[in-house]
Amino acid sequence: MKILVINAGSSSLKYQLLDMDDESVIAKGNCDRIGIGGHIKHSTYDGREVDVDCDFPTHTEAFEKLVEVLTSGDAAVIKSMDEVNAVGHRVVHGGEVYNKTILVTDEVIKQIEDLKDLAPIHNPPNATAIRACRKVFPASTPQVAVFDTAFHQTMPEKAYMFGLPYECYEKYGIRKYGFHGTSHRFVSQALADAMGKDIKDLKIVSCHLGNGSSITAVEGGKSIDTTMGFTPLDGVIMGTRSGCVDASAVTFIQNKMGLSPNETSDLLNKKSGFLGVSGVSSDARDLGAAAADGNKRAKLALEMLRYEIKKYIGSYAAVMNGLDAVLFTGGIGENSDDLREDVCSNMEYLGIKLDKSVNKGLHGKLVKISAPDSKVEVWVVPTNEELLIARDTKALVEGK
Ligand code: ADP
Repeated sequence: MKILVINAGSSSLKYQLLDMDDESVIAKGNCDRIGIGGHIKHSTYDGREVDVDCDFPTHTEAFEKLVEVLTSGDAAVIKSMDEVNAVGHRVVHGGEVYNKTILVTDEVIKQIEDLKDLAPIHNPPNATAIRACRKVFPASTPQVAVFDTAFHQTMPEKAYMFGLPYECYEKYGIRKYGFHGTSHRFVSQALADAMGKDIKDLKIVSCHLGNGSSITAVEGGKSIDTTMGFTPLDGVIMGTRSGCVDASAVTFIQNKMGLSPNETSDLLNKKSGFLGVSGVSSDARDLGAAAADGNKRAKLALEMLRYEIKKYIGSYAAVMNGLDAVLFTGGIGENSDDLREDVCSNMEYLGIKLDKSVNKGLHGKLVKISAPDSKVEVWVVPTNEELLIARDTKALVEGK
């Protein structure tokens, strides 16, 4: 069975074509600069590539181009789109409507669009990409939506409610939704498999650390709390996002700097985080290099992230009444041995003890990095959201 996975962002459309008989990637690529030009970068399992500028006024033209490169020219991997058995779409926000993966219908597309207030940058392109896809494929090709928020719909009310007037929740849906759910679900299951345990018996803290970062308490395979909130701004400090800030500081800044709501949102989402604190960059590698050169603010930004991760591991261990494993994933989590070592130092009281030599220099590998006598296991688990989307799509199509 061949499955096409589509991940549409505001100005990009990433895709992977997978052969689900062995879960291998046949081809993958990215159409970007949608709306401001256009470019496609495409590669195949046997090293053939397309890397050209195009004209992508909307996601529809980008989708048409990806069909063209998959089916014709030097880097084609299939004769026609009829060979694709199903399509899985990553959708960012499912609100409270969707707590699991679902087959796309007209009603589902409408609901994804209706949720645009909650995810203005993401849900509209997700809906556009689904529509574009439905134009190309026959109605008989199943299209499936996998929601980033769905995994967190198991959070109890006491974890997802804010201490605001109740009508803010009732009228506007203001609550914690959580994000990166596809990743947290994939890595926590992969961890349970690697540990040889049933996920139902495990208490896991899953740390997804990349440009955007979130930490989730996974108890018995279910998300019971997570750091991202109403939007992906909440929680720990990120590349350009502030993470959690006292809301009064926000209204104070707004008044002092004379900012509109949109400008304030820009400040919090695009000018804060690593970039805002360091003044150097949003990228953890640049900060590491600057800190090594003696830049104090770069060092501070990196220390803030480490400190906040420690705090969440401790608080999630408290709410789960214990901890079996901590996992690190995402660009920073998978690649930064310094960060993993710092986070896991002085955590002996919680039963966490790292094997520092095993922890060094791992990139994209599934490895246990805790010492043999550590009560809590610590692992690096590479994430693979596309594979989870493809697996969900296959399972739904097969009626499992
Ligand atoms: P996104 O959230 O956009 O998917 P990624 O998961 O790719 O982002 O993570 C990007 C982050 O990972 C960047 O801050 C980058 O600096 C960091 N990163 C990548 N490689 C390394 C490395 N070797 N050491 C430290 N950080 C790294």
